Amino acid sequence: MGVDGRLLSRGQRKTLSNRSGARIVQDCVELLREVAAKASLEIEAVGVSVTGPVDPNTGTLYSPPNAGEGLSGLSLSSEISKSLGGIRVAVGKDTNVIALAEAAYGAAIGVADFVYVTISTGVGGSIVSDGRILLGSGGCAGELGHISVNPAGPECGCGRRGCLEALISGPALARRLEIAKVESEIVKETGQGTLQNDGAYVSAQAAKGDPLAVQILDSAKVEFASAMVDFANLFNSELIVVGGSVARAHPEWLNRAQQAIATSALSPSRETTRIVQSTLDDDGGLIGAALLLY
Ligand SMILES: [Zn+2]
Repeated sequence: MGVDGRLLSRGQRKTLSNRSGARIVQDCVELLREVAAKASLEIEAVGVSVTGPVDPNTGTLYSPPNAGEGLSGLSLSSEISKSLGGIRVAVGKDTNVIALAEAAYGAAIGVADFVYVTISTGVGGSIVSDGRILLGSGGCAGELGHISVNPAGPECGCGRRGCLEALISGPALARRLEIAKVESEIVKETGQGTLQNDGAYVSAQAAKGDPLAVQILDSAKVEFASAMVDFANLFNSELIVVGGSVARAHPEWLNRAQQAIATSALSPSRETTRIVQSTLDDDGGLIGAALLLY
């Protein structure tokens, strides 16, 4: 990344979380060398964004129940560092590094208190308070997708029910539509199921006028808005920055959440908390990972 936040070179390589830790590290290092060579740069230090929980001090991944074999407990920073001659490697949780990028180059420039929320395959977040990311005692604070907004709701990957992630993530929306269709008389008669795992499918169905898809997106909008009021009350942030593919597809969710904050949040958040779209989209993780080194 250049000093102005521009990405100088990009690369892509698929690795699998069930590969061995050594193989995952090897895949990362090969990609780094390839990207650096393309931009004629020497690798002096590396910033890494990871989707799972990680100890930001040691760069070691925790072992949540659904982590792949190779990622569980992997000392990512020390292993990558060893493979590249001992250079500095910093590792951060994806939502935290995106928040860093939003603060430096995105929707939250100059804002000391904001919350970043992403809605895509999962729902996650990061809390920035007084210019610092809230890490918690183990570095894992900010799991905003796992607040349960309906204890009788669908089961979440974390084991609880009705988490925001289990209701409004892309796969959750698709699952809700599938269940609604199976429960509807028409599908019982024809035996058709959707078997989709993508929020974009639900949006497309709603755009075509499918009443079940419209109903699910309406519910999700209300659930999202309710959670944003909670966040406004909890953090009294100046901004809530919302990113991720589902949020991008539904800007009307943000309008609804802003209305809900204005009418239902406690004062002064109801007057001051603004909810905005992320401006960095998919580049936020790459830019923020580099910012871990500054
Ligand atoms: Zn959960």
